[in-house]
Amino acid sequence: MSRKHLNGPFVFPVRDIVRHPGEMREHRVEVASPAKWGEGLVSVAEGEIIDLDVRLESVHEGILVSAQIDTEYTGVCGRCLTDIAQPLEVEFQELFGYPGEEANDFEVQDDHVDLETLVRDSIVLSLPFQPVCQPDCPGLDPNTGERLTSDAVPEAPVDPRWAALKALTPDHDGEAVRPAADDTEKS
Ligand SMILES: [Zn+2]
Repeated sequence: MSRKHLNGPFVFPVRDIVRHPGEMREHRVEVASPAKWGEGLVSVAEGEIIDLDVRLESVHEGILVSAQIDTEYTGVCGRCLTDIAQPLEVEFQELFGYPGEEANDFEVQDDHVDLETLVRDSIVLSLPFQPVCQPDCPGLDPNTGERLTSDAVPEAPVDPRWAALKALTPDHDGEAVRPAADDTEKS
């Protein structure tokens, strides 16, 4: 029997609830991330604190694990490349089956369950592909490469309303259609 993971940070004992359907244990732990998790613009850094709320329920088929993860990811904004640090909250639920019964992705090992793979995968899959420093980050000025502030929006974006106004402007393209006089009065 392999015991090499028995003392890992994401290993929880279930000896006292195994084969006792209805029994439940709850754990709250803080674990330092054992590695950098995530390969994109943002990741959970090695050593970052991961808050783990775990509920272990004994059911007929095995141990039902419910967990809530609270941590923080860091990296850069995908638009303006500013350093960012954002909270990350993710939950999972998974059945750890008893060995030798129905095939399960995860099994109760001896007298414990090891949640590291689940915690890691849950975190990595919930990291944003296009992280932003703020929802309306205007990004970088296409001409200067400087970071734009929210109230200095570049001139480039084509708002359909402005396009329509330009079309109405005389001398523009020579094809402008002048609005009827009473239309302009109303608007
Ligand atoms: Zn940004």
